[in-house]
Amino acid sequence: MTTKPVGSLSLLEANAELAFLRSEIRRHDDLYYNKAMPELSDPEYDALRSRLYAIEEKFPVLVSSTSPSRRIGAPVDNSPFAKVRHRSPMLSLENAFSVNDVEKFFARAAKFLSLDLTAIELCGEQKIDGLSASVIYNDGKISHGSTRGNGFIGEDITRNLTTISDIPKTIQVHGEVEVRGEVYIRTEHFNSINAEKISAGETPFSSPRNVAAGSLRQVDSTITASRHLQFFAYYISASDNVLDVKTQVEALGTLRDIGFSVAEHRLCKNMADVNEFYRAIMSKRDSLGYEIDGTVFKVNSIPLQKRLGFSGRNPRHSVAFKFSASEAETMITDIELGVGRTGKITPVAIINPVSLSGAIISRVTLHNFDEIARKCIAVGDTISISRAGDVIPKIVSITKKSNNKMFEIPLVCPSCGSPVTRREGVVDVYCENRYSCPEQVVSYMEYFASENCFDIVGLGKKQIEEFYTEGRIKTAADIFRLREKELEYGPLSKKPGWGTISVNILYNTIEAQRHISLWKFIMALAIPGVGEVTAKLLADRFSSVESLIAASSDDIAAINGIGTTLTKKIRRFLDNEINAAYIRELLESVSIDNDTPSYGVNPNGKYYRKTIVFTGTMTGISRERAKQLAISSGAFVSSVVSSKTDFVIVGERAGNKLKYAQGLGVAIVPEEEFIASVDVD
Ligand code: AMP
Ligand code: ZN
Repeated sequence: MTTKPVGSLSLLEANAELAFLRSEIRRHDDLYYNKAMPELSDPEYDALRSRLYAIEEKFPVLVSSTSPSRRIGAPVDNSPFAKVRHRSPMLSLENAFSVNDVEKFFARAAKFLSLDLTAIELCGEQKIDGLSASVIYNDGKISHGSTRGNGFIGEDITRNLTTISDIPKTIQVHGEVEVRGEVYIRTEHFNSINAEKISAGETPFSSPRNVAAGSLRQVDSTITASRHLQFFAYYISASDNVLDVKTQVEALGTLRDIGFSVAEHRLCKNMADVNEFYRAIMSKRDSLGYEIDGTVFKVNSIPLQKRLGFSGRNPRHSVAFKFSASEAETMITDIELGVGRTGKITPVAIINPVSLSGAIISRVTLHNFDEIARKCIAVGDTISISRAGDVIPKIVSITKKSNNKMFEIPLVCPSCGSPVTRREGVVDVYCENRYSCPEQVVSYMEYFASENCFDIVGLGKKQIEEFYTEGRIKTAADIFRLREKELEYGPLSKKPGWGTISVNILYNTIEAQRHISLWKFIMALAIPGVGEVTAKLLADRFSSVESLIAASSDDIAAINGIGTTLTKKIRRFLDNEINAAYIRELLESVSIDNDTPSYGVNPNGKYYRKTIVFTGTMTGISRERAKQLAISSGAFVSSVVSSKTDFVIVGERAGNKLKYAQGLGVAIVPEEEFIASVDVD
């Protein structure tokens, strides 16, 4: 999936992306519905679908009748179960993630019915995270039951469904009756099934829903019976109008009366009720004992539901108001300020720890002071926080305000006390004391040594803090001089927690990591706004640090993917004299390869993946051009000769580098020979 706005896709791009999205969705549908082995989380899958819809809506000519947008679930594969055609399609639901989304959804329904939204009552239900199933009764006895399948045709799993005790074998209703609901498993049973699996040396199930799905589709129903499946009913329809149910709330009451289990639900007369029901369910989520992934709101009147029908794959009468992620309520006990690697001062809310999607959260970043001002955040406020998968937790809303004063923007840096600034065009507050603000320097060095940049394993925040406090390293460039620093600060191996072995490992790692790709080097500079993508674009375009520094704003802004704002930030950084001095200092200690993947490189070429050093004055072509040629034949260009150098290319009046290379036995290539062996066009 690309992130290009749908509005700026060309027809060709849209077509290519649709083909990709359709095949991905089909693959994930098959994994989910047929194999019960999903690879994506629901929010991830929903993102694929939303992108598909958005592109199809923008490019109606590209919509095909076989697109997954016209279909629910996966085609039923060659399964061992008989096929059952549903009496009415078993649909999927449109997703809403806010009360506003829900309101919009029902406003459309009201418009469709030519009614006022206030005239429509809703039934709020829990959205049980299991698997839907349909059970048919004939004159009070179970006749058969099926899975949702592709929405139109499901699989006959009657024997498996009859092992579920929540599904009565007989009911006191005559004629043909269909009941639909959700098959699920309680968390306690999920845990004990997994504990057994683990002790038997088998792979545990990844989620309760997977157990439900896997168990329902067992050929041997005694396995299903051993899995403690349960069922919540939410739909009933009878032939011959033997049941007098006019509303969804009545339908749920009837289901309970005839022996089914029904989950908590409530009549909602307006959006305030919707919000209240959603919040109430959300706050109980962890104590329910089974998994839900949100709430469902349905038009309460069944005649109106019938008039609304469905459009595409979704009914017009029901919407899923999903939990965007796991959410929890807690209180802000304090607000701390952190100074990041670019000097940005970030407020962090310290909260009463809560458990969210399996992790204990005790701090939540507030991003910037505008967010505090917008939400009027104060210590003591009760907030609702969310976290999707392994994503950083965030504040969704303030659920209860305290009487405390709003947290104010600091005037000085919390770490070094220098006055803070606001940079043009950005809302953040910065400490400009880049090279001597302790917290900023430590944050920066931690980033510098991280796997995104120099990847110096063994040099983490703790070690950096320690060396910095001691004075052993003052700037990131000092990391490469750690060994020399022993003369002044004493042997590292004598420090508590360090031994000769660990010190040697650290020094060896640092030696090995001196060699870095150009894009990673650019990343390591922590230029504001420059992440991996921009770093790669810059490396690709300029091929060396020197040409990046020499580049004009126009050259930078001409790169597809780098706008004028970002260009300004980059130039501003490079033009700063202190930054420039720092880069020069760094360049003395490291050697840079431009190995950003470029196309058309011949892997059999003489210089492919070889390290080249140029020395002397080139006469045939410029040094810069020679470097580019080397890079485009796949070579790494370095400025220092070492035992890792493969070739030294010599021009006129070559000096010490040549002598040193000869001493090391490195292959020497005259300029003419080099030019002849690379393609000069
Ligand atoms: P989705 O597959 O996410 O589009 O959501 C639709 C599915 O939600 C249905 O097929 C049901 O399996 C499930 N579901 C869970 N609880 C309910 C409920 N109370 N009402 C309707 N559908 C529900
Ligand atoms: Zn500072």
